[in-house]
Amino acid sequence: MLIRSIKEMKQVVKKLKKEGKTIGFVPTMGYLHEGHRSLMRCSKKENQITVVSVFVNPIQFGEGEDLDRYPRDLERDLQVCREEGVDFLFHPKVEEMYPEGYSTYVVVEGLTEGLCGAFREGHFKGVSTVVAKLFNIVQPDRAYFGRKDYQQLIVIKRMVEDLNMDVEVVDCPIVREEDGLALSSRNKYLSPEERRSALSLSKALFRAKELFEAGERDAEKIKEEMRKIIKSYPEVKDIQYIEIVHPHTLKPKKKAEKGDVVALAVFIGNTRLIDNITL
Ligand code: AMP
Repeated sequence: MLIRSIKEMKQVVKKLKKEGKTIGFVPTMGYLHEGHRSLMRCSKKENQITVVSVFVNPIQFGEGEDLDRYPRDLERDLQVCREEGVDFLFHPKVEEMYPEGYSTYVVVEGLTEGLCGAFREGHFKGVSTVVAKLFNIVQPDRAYFGRKDYQQLIVIKRMVEDLNMDVEVVDCPIVREEDGLALSSRNKYLSPEERRSALSLSKALFRAKELFEAGERDAEKIKEEMRKIIKSYPEVKDIQYIEIVHPHTLKPKKKAEKGDVVALAVFIGNTRLIDNITL
């Protein structure tokens, strides 16, 4: 079940391919939660074999970000995978993924410039590179990504199309706590007071959708109301961005339309949270 080396993972994949098995793949950074579980369940339904990877990818973290304190608990992750009937948990070592002399990167241009890309330099280069590597190792028929990381999903879809990769990228809905907070491994950082203020993200997004459904189309007005809501919570330290973007180009819109994505990043204390909603 647990595979720790690239070589072993490739051997297993080779055998599975020979047997004609379809492979579903769920790449994660671990500390698995209900959002990850939903991806595993989708994969289980549509493929004969499901592979989950747990890899905290150092090259997608910028300086001063939370690489060192990112929550890790392999035993717990293994347990979650067992409960979900996952076939293999792939947990490669950093030194094997990026040995000395490592020099090759995948860069998706344009789509990575706005939203999170504007604030996390090199982040998406790290993401597309690790996902390309993982796709080469696991050779999945389908790969499952959450809409929670909407920009990431669009970037990966673009990479797969541009590089003619033989994998279908499947997107899955955002899983939320009962009160609306989107599940995230980073929620673990939140103190009880911060947890209450973290609700500001989903509250603002739900309000945006409500306004849109009531006929409001002026993006600036919608964003202004969202800002007001978010700022009313005590632990909100900084609103990094609020944008209404086209779902495919990720270009900011002045007039909101059905299908557009409202996305935001907010610092609750020292914790940076992201969320989005589709109008
Ligand atoms: P991470 O471990 O945070 O890198 O996330 C791994 C995958 O799980 C990504 O495709 C995420 O978009 C997805 N994911 C994370 N949180 C959620 C959530 N609350 N709902 C749905 N998918 C999620």
